[in-house]
Amino acid sequence: MSSNSPTIDHACQHKPKDYKRALKPVWCPGCGDYGVVNALYKTMADLNLQREDLAVVSGIGCSSRIPGYVNAYGFNGVHGRALTIATGVKLARPETTVIICGGDGDGLAIGMGHFPHAARRNLNMTYIMMDNRIYGLTKGQMSPTTEHDLRTKTSTKGNIEQPINPVLLALSVGVTFVARTVGTNIKHMSEIFKQAVEHNGFSFVHVLSPCITFRGKGQFDNLESRTHFLEPGEHDVTDFREAHEKTMFGEKLYMGVLYQQKKESFMQRYETIRNDFMQGSRKTVVEVVDEFLP
Ligand code: SF4
Repeated sequence: MSSNSPTIDHACQHKPKDYKRALKPVWCPGCGDYGVVNALYKTMADLNLQREDLAVVSGIGCSSRIPGYVNAYGFNGVHGRALTIATGVKLARPETTVIICGGDGDGLAIGMGHFPHAARRNLNMTYIMMDNRIYGLTKGQMSPTTEHDLRTKTSTKGNIEQPINPVLLALSVGVTFVARTVGTNIKHMSEIFKQAVEHNGFSFVHVLSPCITFRGKGQFDNLESRTHFLEPGEHDVTDFREAHEKTMFGEKLYMGVLYQQKKESFMQRYETIRNDFMQGSRKTVVEVVDEFLP
């Protein structure tokens, strides 16, 4: 495990309810985000994360309410800026386990510009994107993942645009852990979340999380016959090409860890540079420039 791995107190085993705050969620009954927050409680308990070393950060949207429901440090930020706030938290307190929660609108529209930069930094934090393919909080406008041709309040004759595939995007911008799961399966979600939190680097988990109010009951039911839950070892998670195929919405919709790459995290690289510098084996910019001066 890296120095940024979750802090585990073996003396006191936490239970999922220890991470639950008294504040009751205000989501609509049946919203997929209930499943996600419950899977998160289970993940935190399974990893026995210390609440004082845990921060949940979000942007704006229905799913971004999650920090308010977790008994740990939390920050419900501004629209599309969850990754920037989380980056600040992680840089200031590298020992903190940082989990980012947000929706498709928050992360793939106004927040899109931050995604590739979070990926290339490879900071050790986990980004959980709850994708309901609609703007729920603002009452049903099409989002960047809304299906082509779908009628919404802002596409009354059908969505002209093509949707973004979030896992394909994550893979393309160099995320070192890419996974997909479904908001109605707490066991699977929590297994994936655990692996994502334990990953050394930036991890991205795409969750198909239904919006019962603006996308109707059983939003993802039509995908069920195509859903395929990957078994451990069934797929080589280090194979980029294989991962690329499995990110696509083809005949099968693959769930599980699609890609994982071992790579030095930002903080590990930072420590290496810092130590080299302290030991005098790395030159300062002034020293490098001096060598070129006559
Ligand atoms: Fe969930 Fe949709 Fe209701 Fe928002 S509007 S709480 S996403 S069901």
